[in-house]
Amino acid sequence: MPLDDVVLALQHLVDRFIRRARLGPPPAAGARRLLIVQIDGLSRSVLEQGLAEGRMPFLRRLLKRGDLQLRPMAVGMPTSTPAFQMAAMYGVRPDIPGFHFHDKRRREDVYFPRAGDAARVEAQQAGGRRGIVAGGSSYGCVFTGGAADSLFSFAMIKRPTGTGLVRAVTNFVVLTWVAVKALTLTAVELGRALLRLIADPVAEWQRGFKSLAIKIGISVWIRQLFNLAVSRDLYRGVPAIYVNYLDYDVFAHAYGPRHRRALRALRRVDRSLRQLWRVCRRVPEHQYDFYVLSDHGQAHCTPFEKLRDGRRIERVLFDEVFKDAAVREVTPARPSGRRRLASGIKAYRSGRAPGVFQRFFNYLEDDFPWVLGELREAREQHDVRVIAAGPNAFVYFIDEPQPLTIQQIEDRWPGLGESLSRSVGVGYVLARSTEGPVCFWRGKRYRIGDSEAGPFAGREDAATVVAGIVDLMAMPSAGDLVLYGIDAAGGNVSYIAETGAHAGPSAEELHTFLIGPGGAPLPDAIRHPVELYPYFMTYQERHRTAA
Ligand SMILES: [Zn+2]
Repeated sequence: MPLDDVVLALQHLVDRFIRRARLGPPPAAGARRLLIVQIDGLSRSVLEQGLAEGRMPFLRRLLKRGDLQLRPMAVGMPTSTPAFQMAAMYGVRPDIPGFHFHDKRRREDVYFPRAGDAARVEAQQAGGRRGIVAGGSSYGCVFTGGAADSLFSFAMIKRPTGTGLVRAVTNFVVLTWVAVKALTLTAVELGRALLRLIADPVAEWQRGFKSLAIKIGISVWIRQLFNLAVSRDLYRGVPAIYVNYLDYDVFAHAYGPRHRRALRALRRVDRSLRQLWRVCRRVPEHQYDFYVLSDHGQAHCTPFEKLRDGRRIERVLFDEVFKDAAVREVTPARPSGRRRLASGIKAYRSGRAPGVFQRFFNYLEDDFPWVLGELREAREQHDVRVIAAGPNAFVYFIDEPQPLTIQQIEDRWPGLGESLSRSVGVGYVLARSTEGPVCFWRGKRYRIGDSEAGPFAGREDAATVVAGIVDLMAMPSAGDLVLYGIDAAGGNVSYIAETGAHAGPSAEELHTFLIGPGGAPLPDAIRHPVELYPYFMTYQERHRTAA
């Protein structure tokens, strides 16, 4: 396509200009520099499909030639970006049970996209350890990893570090170029969309609008900005760079991990890999080692609300399970509470439809929360707080600051674990016991431990799943009950409105990859992202000792 050629030619010019303006000194003898490219949300099996179908021709060529080599990686539980990056960047086993959770001891929610939450968690949990990108840059990550410059990191997204923003934004050449290129591509995408709209107005508008918005926002503007900012860093010789391309994850959430729109995003990420690889080749004296990895995969899911008349799981649990404070006081001496709970659970399982007013209220609450303000009752009733975070939902009994065991929970709510695990839209129900984690599945209770894999016993990777669940339930902030929609009777379910989801134990979510230089001493397999930390820290040590 001629436009691509023009863009490419201009790109070369700009590259050369930036190179001349920005070329920094090479590292000291023997030291190497680190570039990590994260493809957010890409499982190994989807990567393999993408490579086989020719959607990532550049990466395939490098792997085939042996310039790069691939290793399998298990990412641990939950299969979620903040947990992965805390482990990989700082080498700690984090207390991050999901993308959204409640800390009972502090009585506060943590929600990563909210300003300040990621920065607070990073400060608390990294514990003063040096991050793998200390003195470098990070882009699009949840945490900074110690980077001096970080842009569009969740930790800084609302309050960027002065230098990060200033350096990235005031670099006139970079910004102008990004603007020109992104505007051109935006115009191209809008033009294409317009043609499709003329061809088939109604269907195309409904189908294409969301996709177009994501494509222009994430895949044009943000990806181009990251490409240019990272290229500039490579020319400057920044010692360590961690860039996270969000394109695939965002499309996979919206349409499903193997949907054509998600797979098409891989081609655009492949182009970014090619651009960064070429810049590295242009400055061989900077000695960059090129890594590509993914933080988790995704499972194809049905949104819970589709199964339950448009109601969210919080609403269903409060309306039908935890609906009566008196039930909490249930004891063998007060069987009436038990009966009420049983009828509540029956209604919950049958998916009884609420009234019209209730439905309108729920709609407002879900889609326009700002109309009603932060509604405490939406998440918390009778000392029970429910947080839906993806294919996982946490149930907290907040009158007690420490996690409750299943014995303590069932003293209050007899038979709760078994009943919930038989409900529509619920797969696994995890809890703690004095003998380690327990898992309820389809109405049966299993112990999870060294020689006990419960419902996962048939899986090839049973030991990995068991280790993940043990880690997860050892986190103080994981719910007293952790509900997973993964492996529900009718297929995987997510508790938020999305078609692709992650945080759970399915093979697609758990297994990703680490791709590194052909000659690098990569471990044979990575069993948990904490193992990445000492590996990537060798770059810092070499750099420090050499400097
Ligand atoms: Zn995601």
